[in-house]
Amino acid sequence: AKREGRGRVCFFESEMDRELRDRRLLLHDLRQAVEQNQLLVYFQPQARMDGEIIGFEALVRWNHPTRGFVPPDQFIPLAEENGLIIRLGEWVLREACREAASWPRPLQVAVNLSPVQFQAGDLERSIHQILLETGLAPTRLEVEITEGVLIGDFTRALTLLRRLKALGIRIAMDDFGTGYSSLSYLQSFPFDKIKIDRSFISDLEATPQSAEIVRAVLSLAHALKIPVVAEGVETEAQRVFLAREACEEMQGYLIGRPEPIERYLDLIGVTVEQ
Ligand code: C2E
Ligand code: CA
Ligand code: CA
Ligand code: CA
Repeated sequence: AKREGRGRVCFFESEMDRELRDRRLLLHDLRQAVEQNQLLVYFQPQARMDGEIIGFEALVRWNHPTRGFVPPDQFIPLAEENGLIIRLGEWVLREACREAASWPRPLQVAVNLSPVQFQAGDLERSIHQILLETGLAPTRLEVEITEGVLIGDFTRALTLLRRLKALGIRIAMDDFGTGYSSLSYLQSFPFDKIKIDRSFISDLEATPQSAEIVRAVLSLAHALKIPVVAEGVETEAQRVFLAREACEEMQGYLIGRPEPIERYLDLIGVTVEQ
């Protein structure tokens, strides 16, 4: 039994070693990808409940030379661990703003910001700089933050959010309902939008509890006069439910997947000659 136990420990250690090595390799490649412009920005449409497009969320993509597309859920945390997210995030922001500034229709563009971008670096300055550089009106930019932003240095984050808002940028609370303290954050900052997490929407039909939670979030948000975006809307039944409950906006595969902007030229108002 003892030998078996020791064998197990060894097994786990080497497993951990392998994971560690793999992460180091991935980080090395990611750093290179950021430096050599190998990342992509995809855009996913956001719409009112009647289907009218109001904007796009920018989502980063990494097409690794041998691994293919690595999911952001894998490389964003890696980039956050060592500060690489600051340059990566700035790059996404610049690309998204540059792209949006070129659209014939003045649609909004939403960009995700990592908590690490709030803790380090000069976020306000770099956003301001990017807006000047690209010529995008600040009122067309929305930043999406999760509660992680407010968990670290709360005062610093709050000050920064207020300054961004003063520039005319809108602030959306992302993944609402998944964290521990979503409710208390609503009290601390006047968010312009709440995004109900995809998990509640995907469970709508199967679990009655999810429908009740979605109703409760909507009624709370409406009492606070904050518009709500439902994430991950995939079916017409979900759309109908949300529309009936007076949800303002939706995003999800029902409207469109995250794609290179070329796929959405008609939505941004570019008329393509056949
Ligand atoms: P998120 O901000 O909550 O983004 C929404 C995620 O849901 C995206 O996954 C999107 O592709 C996916 N999604 C949208 N509609 C549907 C649907 O109808 N069904 C399903 N099953 N999924 C849907 P993605 O692009 O893989 O991104 C995952 C997460 O990675 C994002 O979650 C965000 O937290 C992070 N992320 C992505 N891009 C960036 C970025 O540029 N900066 C930062 N800091 N984080 C990013
Ligand atoms: Ca988001
Ligand atoms: Ca989200
Ligand atoms: Ca999420």
